[in-house]
Amino acid sequence: MTTGGHGTDGVERRGLMFVLSSPSGAGKTTLSRLLIERMPGLKMSVSATTRPMRPGEVDGRDYLFVDKPRFEAMVKGDELLEWATVFDNRYGTPRGPVEAALSAGQDVLFDIDWQGTQQLREKARADVVSVFILPPSAADLEKRLHSRAQDSDEVIRKRMSRASHEMSHWAEYDYIVINHDVDQAFAEVQSILKAERLKRERRIGLVGFVRSLQGQLQG
Ligand code: 5GP
Repeated sequence: MTTGGHGTDGVERRGLMFVLSSPSGAGKTTLSRLLIERMPGLKMSVSATTRPMRPGEVDGRDYLFVDKPRFEAMVKGDELLEWATVFDNRYGTPRGPVEAALSAGQDVLFDIDWQGTQQLREKARADVVSVFILPPSAADLEKRLHSRAQDSDEVIRKRMSRASHEMSHWAEYDYIVINHDVDQAFAEVQSILKAERLKRERRIGLVGFVRSLQGQLQG
């Protein structure tokens, strides 16, 4: 997946796949929304899922809500870049929009779990930057799950018991952010993206840029 776009300084670079993972309730959805609002050149990957829509969610914006046969057809048709089963439901990343965004020189933000992150890393290691968000404490995680008030008590209990399992994958990620405070966590995630955009190996236009600078200096 080597595609080119122009960085804010005008030098061509490859788009990157920016992955945020965390146990549910660690604040990842808020951080994703802030990133999309405040970081130009970043596009959200909208996943397909078989889970029921929650109040307030919009089909096509939060997820593409599909039934099981449609999801199976997407898997069979190789329409998904990665997919996994989470909480008895299927989730997957449609390939087309991601490839289109990267070709247009945009970076893509993924809110996916560790299983999906592993699959992306296998497919495009050099272009994947992964961040794991941790809650500051178990009590904080529980409070956030309850304040969301969208899931039943039973679902919340399930999510709490899954959180420790999900967290066991933290060491597979490039960066770890502890979400004590959303503004601080956002600033940290934003710094990671900004620095990764400047990485030399992603900036395919640098050779030409430096040559032209040298030409001007010598001429
Ligand atoms: P939720 O049901 O709370 O929206 O999401 C449950 C979990 O599924 C979250 O950890 C979320 O990151 C993960 N998830 C959402 N979309 C995808 C996807 O396309 N692929 C994978 N592997 N996980 C996803």
